[in-house]
Amino acid sequence: MISKRTIRDLTDAEVRGKRALVRVDFNVPLDDSVNVSDDTRIRAALPTIEALASRGARVVLLSHLGRPKGGKPEPKYSLAPVAKRLGELTSRPVRFVAALDSDDAVAATHELKDGEILLLENTRFNAGEEKNDDALAKALARLGDLYVNDAFGAAHRAHSSTAGVAKYLHPAVAGLLMEKELEYLGSALADPQRPFIAILGGAKISGKIDVIESLLPKVDGLLIGGAMANTFYKAMGLETGKSLVEPDRVDLAKSLLDRAGFRLTLPHDAMVAPSLEQAASAHAVKRDAVPPNEAMFDIGPDTMQSYARAIATAKTVVWNGPMGVFETPPFDAGTRAVARAMADATNKGATTIVGGGDSAAAVAEARLEARMSHVSTGGGASLEFLEGKPLPGVEALETRR
Ligand code: ADP
Ligand code: MG
Repeated sequence: MISKRTIRDLTDAEVRGKRALVRVDFNVPLDDSVNVSDDTRIRAALPTIEALASRGARVVLLSHLGRPKGGKPEPKYSLAPVAKRLGELTSRPVRFVAALDSDDAVAATHELKDGEILLLENTRFNAGEEKNDDALAKALARLGDLYVNDAFGAAHRAHSSTAGVAKYLHPAVAGLLMEKELEYLGSALADPQRPFIAILGGAKISGKIDVIESLLPKVDGLLIGGAMANTFYKAMGLETGKSLVEPDRVDLAKSLLDRAGFRLTLPHDAMVAPSLEQAASAHAVKRDAVPPNEAMFDIGPDTMQSYARAIATAKTVVWNGPMGVFETPPFDAGTRAVARAMADATNKGATTIVGGGDSAAAVAEARLEARMSHVSTGGGASLEFLEGKPLPGVEALETRR
């Protein structure tokens, strides 16, 4: 059970007829700024919206979308297309008002009837949002009678709509998606079923150092893939050819290797090619045989097998970051192998968690989403959570009594 109060803890008197101001993560991709091309995040917020509306709340939704320049309105980042899609996904009336912190917006919230939904305009159309401006936080607090944060994907940001507003609007509780995210990620870190295996990949070791440091004392095994393996290879004195290496992190990689001992596993073979454009000439080599004029773009077949075996023995698996350049076949093989092994582990009763935007995309592409215990909707937020950092959007909420 998470330590924060959630919408399930609210009494009927706290919900019925009340304006529930819900911060959601509707930061979805748009085609030509008119149609939502991937509605995953909208669907992910539906349980919370429905739970509130069915209890008679008047649901007022806030979200950011994209990165409008200078915190000013930019038509291509309007949430209007999102309101249209949301209306198709729910049978409840959905209204959209192109206002955020004005009297018009407040008036629109008062026009709602029980069970109706109102989406307001992009929170980043106000320059105060990303500064966690206090005046904006107060203005947003006028839009509701209670505050719900369901935007796990934005919880690592201290913004007016994710953190500041909770100072002025109570109850301030977690939505169901937020609860699910915190439950899965939180119990994996605090009280994992063992063996607990973590798999880390992706482009850069520099972005993942804090995760490695935070996970090492907790896991039974840490499997490394992706380009960050190269920096470790370099630290071991191996030839890395034209692979992506971070020279200024080699010393750090050395110290991690010294401290980690047998708990940290590096790929023992690799898929290499002269360049990504020459993917057709990809071939597998042992890790001490990377040709000087080629680069490592994926883990090799032996590593895929041994990582799959390790995953098969685990009771908890947390994965962040692709094993290779999965955007360019055949260098998607390592990432797919890990995804498949995790799906099989789920079947055998393990808890399997995927965090990270690109890893989640790879799992979706392999159509294995439903076979994971949990695929986090927040790339950056899940990474910061795994680093052990407090998330401002979560900290701002009430603690369960
Ligand atoms: P996530 O979003 O899941 O946290 P990252 O953003 O850290 O993952 O890393 C994803 C990127 O890492 C992908 O674009 C992928 O192409 C790149 N990558 C993975 N392995 C390699 C490699 N061996 N060489 C170069 N880039 C790599
Ligand atoms: Mg990424």
